[in-house]
Amino acid sequence: MSLVDLKKVLQPAYEGKYAIGAFNVISVDFLEAIIKAAEAKKTPIILNTAEVHMQYLDIELIAAAIKEAANRTKLDVVWHLDHGLSFESVAKAIKSGFSSVMFDGSHLSFEENIRQTKEIVKMSHAAGVTVEAELGAVGGSEEGDLISVASKAMYTNIEQAREFVEETKIDALAVAIGNSHGKYKGDPVLDFELLSDLKDITRIPLVLHGGSGISTEGFHKAIDLGISKINFYTGMSQQALTTLKNELNKEESEGYNDFPEIMTKVKLSVQEIVEEQIEIFRNRK
Ligand SMILES: [Zn+2]
Repeated sequence: MSLVDLKKVLQPAYEGKYAIGAFNVISVDFLEAIIKAAEAKKTPIILNTAEVHMQYLDIELIAAAIKEAANRTKLDVVWHLDHGLSFESVAKAIKSGFSSVMFDGSHLSFEENIRQTKEIVKMSHAAGVTVEAELGAVGGSEEGDLISVASKAMYTNIEQAREFVEETKIDALAVAIGNSHGKYKGDPVLDFELLSDLKDITRIPLVLHGGSGISTEGFHKAIDLGISKINFYTGMSQQALTTLKNELNKEESEGYNDFPEIMTKVKLSVQEIVEEQIEIFRNRK
């Protein structure tokens, strides 16, 4: 199949109360691992490529690999720009073949976020591409301990969410409810009451960023309360590094196939963690 947009996979998830995982592709190895996990679990999948990772990628090469992977599988595959930062980078992504984009205007004033998101939705929808936007600010890994105090003011505001969704006509909204990118220090405390209110007011699929480190219980509760897309990256990256370190610490053999053997193990370990997450996201109790 060719790539599909976000709506195609999120609407059934929204109605059926499960979530689709969005996993970051940072290499062809990661692409293979994610697709194999989706195949094993027979689930639609969202491939995230973050604007900040573009510096490590040949985007046209990755685009060709992603299109080939989507063509080979019967599953619905979305290629989604993660944290697009400007009108120009979103336009470039659409040109490269992304079927969906996120525009992150969360650092802008509310009015400016609406204005820029609106323009991006207009352009993207005209090209048949769906848009996720962010309101409030999801914490970053550096904020660490400050999260419970400092970030509360950055949580998504209910009244603003209503206006934002109505005005911009976005397809999905990333919310800030105590979630944070990167590693969490201690257990993240999510504001489920706020999430429930946001679901009632926006009536569109909601997105949870910073999925690594949230408990299975936490995910299930969030999914019950309207989360339909979960971004998961740090856990995959850590898993890949752990496997790599363990393999490199083994006795040196310097065999001809060492490198591909090690990289295959890394790939398999990433596939495993993606499968585990898919299971958690889809099979809530
Ligand atoms: Zn994010």
